[in-house]
Amino acid sequence: MRKKIVAGNWKMNMNLDETKQLIKQINKEIKAEELADNTRVIIAPSFVNLKTAIKKVSKSNIEVAAQNVHQAKNGAFTGEISADMLTSVGVKIVILGHSERREYFRETDELLAQKVTAALENNLEIIFCFGEVLEDRKSNNYFKVVESQLKNGLFHLDKEDFSKIILAYEPVWAIGTGETASPEQAQEMHAFVRENIDKQYGQEVANNVSILYGGSVKPVNAKEIFSKQDVDGGLIGGAALNANDFTAIIKSV
Ligand code: PEP
Repeated sequence: MRKKIVAGNWKMNMNLDETKQLIKQINKEIKAEELADNTRVIIAPSFVNLKTAIKKVSKSNIEVAAQNVHQAKNGAFTGEISADMLTSVGVKIVILGHSERREYFRETDELLAQKVTAALENNLEIIFCFGEVLEDRKSNNYFKVVESQLKNGLFHLDKEDFSKIILAYEPVWAIGTGETASPEQAQEMHAFVRENIDKQYGQEVANNVSILYGGSVKPVNAKEIFSKQDVDGGLIGGAALNANDFTAIIKSV
């Protein structure tokens, strides 16, 4: 059975003390024994705080993800972080393809395909983000855009590797804007994505892949969005920085 997942993307927020404090508050609210067997909670602090975060969640079921990884094994890439460096400090998951990486750092589908391969070679699980911009939504181009992001970023993988991917549909017009896709819009896209995966990898893989929704999920709208058949949880930005909001969202999944 596929997992329900709530993942918090902290982006470039939270220094060391704030990281410790937020994890302490989340730990207090979310007791290990309260999480259902098929539910996962993931937080993604900044690179420099990953090791501390891993230590701080060691007694809970909360998992820690990195927000990015470089595609090369190692070498002269000043300021970058390799997959091997992440695994060496205990990271097991990485977010790839976030719209902010695609937009501000010019990460293309082709580059993301390389990053996906590098991460998998180092046994990192991947939360792979994709989604259309407002223009594509308005011009009814959104299915095409998503189809090509999946094909170019992920469909080079074989079945076994694809099974290590968590998908996150994040319509760019809903990220950090306060505007959420309606539960029906989310369901429509998630069903389309699952159908595409069925075509590429078969029904078993399609049924087992978790597809998260991301874009202005808050305690007030989480339950309704998560109630949709093909929505398996959320990737949370702003609301993940507040322990009360984040834990309320976790309890809605
Ligand atoms: C995100 O950046 O992945 C995100 C979903 O942000 P927010 O929840 O703030 O819209």
